Amino acid sequence: MSMELQINLAQARKEKPAADKLGFGTIFTDHMFVMDYSVEQGWHNAQIMPYGPLLLEPSIMVFHYGQAVFEGMKAFRTKDERVVLFRPERYIRRMSYSIQKLCIPAFDEAFVVDAIKTLVDIERDWVYGAEGTALYIRPFIIATDPYLGVRPSNTYKFMVILSPVGAYYKEGFNPVKIYITDEFTRAAKQGLGDVKTPANYAASLYAGEQAKKMGFTQVLWLDPIEKKYIEEVGTMNVFFKIDGEVVTPALSGSILSGVTRDSVLQVLKSWGIAVSERAISVDEIFAAYDEGRLEEVFGTGTAAVISPVGLLRHGEREISINGGVTGELSARLFDAITGMQYGKCSDDFGWIVEV
Ligand SMILES: *Cc1c(COP(=O)(O)O)cnc(C)c1O
Repeated sequence: MSMELQINLAQARKEKPAADKLGFGTIFTDHMFVMDYSVEQGWHNAQIMPYGPLLLEPSIMVFHYGQAVFEGMKAFRTKDERVVLFRPERYIRRMSYSIQKLCIPAFDEAFVVDAIKTLVDIERDWVYGAEGTALYIRPFIIATDPYLGVRPSNTYKFMVILSPVGAYYKEGFNPVKIYITDEFTRAAKQGLGDVKTPANYAASLYAGEQAKKMGFTQVLWLDPIEKKYIEEVGTMNVFFKIDGEVVTPALSGSILSGVTRDSVLQVLKSWGIAVSERAISVDEIFAAYDEGRLEEVFGTGTAAVISPVGLLRHGEREISINGGVTGELSARLFDAITGMQYGKCSDDFGWIVEV
């Protein structure tokens, strides 16, 4: 299948803020990718065009029934001024997996990866060189039939927007405080927990706000049935270092298969560190702590790469991990993965794709 990518460049370019003024997800670049789907034409009308508002009917299905998926990946500027993507095929393959569960028609993965490369190439100047900055890439698909009734849409819009993001850790690592909830559930088994869809985020807001009011950064979800086993931290997968072994919950069907999770597992194995993907209960974590065997806890996700956890709360119990400071392994993993992304270390895994 060959489809043409139309390119329509913006007349004027926006002013770029200073690198130290970039937040996360608040500024968007000059162009975006758009592609439409209809039953008659399949995916068609692929184009790169100036970034701007959409004209959509209020009746389109995504507004009412949430039929949508998204992805989140990054482009980086290396020390020697190359612009690179990190594992783009893997993110787009996950998007292909997500759309199946949302009844959205398949697209050509290679075409989309190429279109993203072309878009990032056009927006090269938005890939800042400052330490820790990146260009966040947000592909997403929405259902666009103007129809009030529950069924899969017959039309869709696939879009990619780009946002320059600042350094996540400006003043060094900042370990997060995590609240383990017994009360709320993010996703059920056989539900949507293993796909990247807005519904999961809608389902997490209430518990997240409660946790924030109590002074926590994020919620850690337990399994939806027994409320006993660790699942994930909303926007991150989670890892525990116990007695030198690194443990992360197995992909049980209700947690997301993070690309960073996979990268961390591969890097750890290459270092000869014992890793295991298995069910791990909250009781086991607290028992390991009591026995002085819980060495480190960290989250993994595209935004922060590695997010050290300094404090865990469950019911009335609160434990400080590694004295509330970043563990050695967390820091080493962060340096290894960001080192590949910024071209400071060699990429032994074939994860870096040049634009
Ligand atoms: C995106 C996401 C993650 C992290 O995945 P990465 O591919 O590493 O960015 C973890 N959990 C949820 C629920 C997510 O949506």
